[in-house]
Amino acid sequence: MNRGTELPQTMLAMVVEQPGRPLVRREIPVPSPGPDQLLVKVNACGVCRTDLHVADGELPKPKLPLVPGHEIVGTVVRVGSRVDDFRPGDRVGVPWLGHTCGECRFCRTDRENLCDHPAFTGYTLDGGYAEYTAADRRYCFLLPEGYSDTAAAPLLCAGLIGYRSYRMAGENIDRLGIYGFGGAAHIIAQIAVYQGKKVYGFTRPGDSAAKDFALRLGAVWAGDSTEMPPEPLDASIIFAPVGSLVPLALRATAKGGTVICGGIHMSDIPSFPYNILWEERTVRSVANLTRRDARELLEIAPNVPVRTEVELFSLSDANEALSRLRSGRIQGAAVLIAES
Ligand SMILES: [Zn+2]
Ligand SMILES: [Zn+2]
Repeated sequence: MNRGTELPQTMLAMVVEQPGRPLVRREIPVPSPGPDQLLVKVNACGVCRTDLHVADGELPKPKLPLVPGHEIVGTVVRVGSRVDDFRPGDRVGVPWLGHTCGECRFCRTDRENLCDHPAFTGYTLDGGYAEYTAADRRYCFLLPEGYSDTAAAPLLCAGLIGYRSYRMAGENIDRLGIYGFGGAAHIIAQIAVYQGKKVYGFTRPGDSAAKDFALRLGAVWAGDSTEMPPEPLDASIIFAPVGSLVPLALRATAKGGTVICGGIHMSDIPSFPYNILWEERTVRSVANLTRRDARELLEIAPNVPVRTEVELFSLSDANEALSRLRSGRIQGAAVLIAES
């Protein structure tokens, strides 16, 4: 099965060696694929806020040393002995969900995103801040044609987890608030507008570029996160990792509405009076994704069509991409690209 492909022994990778310190540029062995794995040459890898939380040591027990990155678009170059559904040359996406047990009570009830024994790409498994990665074929997806490698990368986490968050808002909503207008928001806003929802964009106070961005993507209103929208919202999604947004979003939400926290990490939520939760308002989080979320999002994205805005960085400049994401200086999504 390895006929004809000469692969190098080693590859460039940007590695988390010590959380809280910058990533380190290393030459490490090219992984060899296990029986159910694909070896993928990475063409593009999105930079997600979760990568920041991993690099900063805000998430427990990462694999160390770790190659982060879980919005991987690449070309299959080798397949494991049990793989019969992908071939060398296929273009695949590798998302955050890297493995589930298939046996726990969550897997058995269609909630594999909550699996008791999961593995996550770029967190507990090596990911895509490298020239190659090995990934379990069962969690890889063929990508819609019409998307370049770099345009497809943000769909794989910003898109997928954003889409799951959006699904949790419910079908019968009219007015959707989005707090934090970055990678996930810019994808979800387009889908929501396409489905006839009114989108209200909330940004860091004074961030006029982000407000313009929200309006350009079809938001009917954009304002500071501390402002109240002109009408109460039916649901809000908070993508910014800022707990003080939860009571603000609740105050902006109509009776029966839902506030969805779409991130893996958030600063503490301040206490708030019960009356802003009263009348059947809900606060909930969204964790990970299921493969169903991925199939749905990858089907709907080309119909909208979702256009992703990306800023490109070379793989060696991963630290620069992360620091710009940390300080809110990325419009849309940052994507790392191979250097040759
Ligand atoms: Zn499980
Ligand atoms: Zn992510």
